Amino acid sequence: MVKKVVIVGGGIAGIYVLRSLLAKREEIEEGLDLTLVKRERSGWVSTCGLPFALRGWYDIKRTEINEPKFFLDQGVDFRTETEVTGLNLEDRTVKIATGEELPYDYLVIATGREPSIPEAVAKAGLKGISTFNNEADAREIEAAMAGATNAFVRGRGIIGLQAAVAFAAKGLKTTVLGGPPSLLPASLDPDMGDMVKNWLEEKHGIQFILARKEITAVRGEGGRVKSVVIGDGEEIPADVVVIAKGMRPNVRLAVEAGIEIGDSGGIVTDNAMHVKRGRSYLHDVFSLGDCTEVIDGITYRPRLSQLASTVVVQSKVVADNIISDIKGQPSLYSISAPCLSPTVAEIGGLLVGSVGVTSEAAARAGIKTLSGKATKLVKARYFPGAKPLTMKLLFDAYSHKLIGAQMVGEATVAERVNELEIAIRAGMTAEELRNTERCYDPSLSLLVDVTIDATEKAMGMASVY
Ligand SMILES: Cc1cc2nc3c(=O)[nH]c(=O)nc-3n(C[C@H](O)[C@H](O)[C@H](O)COP(=O)(O)OP(=O)(O)OC[C@H]3O[C@@H](n4cnc5c(N)ncnc54)[C@H](O)[C@@H]3O)c2cc1C
Repeated sequence: MVKKVVIVGGGIAGIYVLRSLLAKREEIEEGLDLTLVKRERSGWVSTCGLPFALRGWYDIKRTEINEPKFFLDQGVDFRTETEVTGLNLEDRTVKIATGEELPYDYLVIATGREPSIPEAVAKAGLKGISTFNNEADAREIEAAMAGATNAFVRGRGIIGLQAAVAFAAKGLKTTVLGGPPSLLPASLDPDMGDMVKNWLEEKHGIQFILARKEITAVRGEGGRVKSVVIGDGEEIPADVVVIAKGMRPNVRLAVEAGIEIGDSGGIVTDNAMHVKRGRSYLHDVFSLGDCTEVIDGITYRPRLSQLASTVVVQSKVVADNIISDIKGQPSLYSISAPCLSPTVAEIGGLLVGSVGVTSEAAARAGIKTLSGKATKLVKARYFPGAKPLTMKLLFDAYSHKLIGAQMVGEATVAERVNELEIAIRAGMTAEELRNTERCYDPSLSLLVDVTIDATEKAMGMASVY
């Protein structure tokens, strides 16, 4: 009999599971019936491309890589603008708002994240205030930017800062409110985060308030926001406001279906992405993406990752397991490796990267660290356009294994994050990293790279070159 897979959610998680299953559909003799349900009206959208659309680099529409028709034409029951109202794990059905029940053999929960909006903001109900979670939000923000003079961003993470850069680039006077002490705390230690702050202040004129202050009121005129009040009364003019803080896993459907939620607030899975209910993991129900908890690759504690890069790995595990389960084969693909969350972001011309733990996350987990930081050009100084890069490396103080890397610079960040992720996974020590041969061409690299200098600093050695 034809096997039915129902995917709840059409963000990157749901879409990547769908794409993987479409690629493997031919392997299933009895046939694979695929349904995807999502709230938005779009097909496959690159959420990660939205901040750059706000900068005016391209139209928001361009981030829609495939329209729904692309999937409908392949025989997928691709349901947009549709709300799932319940999951019945006993009857193996998914209920949608019309009352229709969709039967499944395999269920994939990919319900993503949802923003938490401060009460004062929600209550005001003013136009010009948005979260920044999907393409509809991007359109709202874009509309609010037209004719605006002042912008306000709540949140000091990548998305908040990218939105702030978009505003500043359009000439808006932009203020960012975030907690103390520094920017991007999930990725960078304060000394590295301060480099980003200095850059955004100097190059983009963005103002920062890094303090334990909340939005206490928003004031408007003619139904549109005009200012934001923070803490005990400081009023900041704002005709466009973005709330880019507090993305929580969207787990309502899972909770109502009795699926276990972890301490991080995300859905608990085993390493094959099966959800847990009662004492067992269910072989026919999977969860992935921003709604799902991961296990940290350094501390081995549960946390959230909420990155597209994490989602893509999980989606292969889910699809491979569905296919092998249908074929009655033991799963060859059940290991979703502990998560290191390699991250890279372009923030107003500055590149920021990280992988593994920060000093704070290590300390929280009781891991003692050795750290080394160095700044160097990324290619020979006599080459025009040679740009500096600052790298900070963290090693476990006892084993000397690499456990974290952070970098801020103007070039070569993404490839370094990937390189150092592999070094962490391979369990490389400071001694091994220091003595690796590195490729060299003066137009592309230095003979002694910043990685070596940062490692030697962590080892307490003077860098010779
Ligand atoms: C602006 C922005 C920029 C980003 N940039 C990067 C980046 O550069 N690199 C990176 O790695 N990550 C980035 N991320 C993070 C990355 O986009 C997310 O990790 C990823 O999109 C998560 O996908 P998801 O499918 O799990 O969740 P979501 O995108 O939240 O999708 C959830 C889906 O579930 C659906 N849904 C939920 N509940 C229901 C229901 N009851 N009924 C029907 N449908 C439902 C929603 O409609 C939606 O389709 C960015 C995120 C944002 C917002």
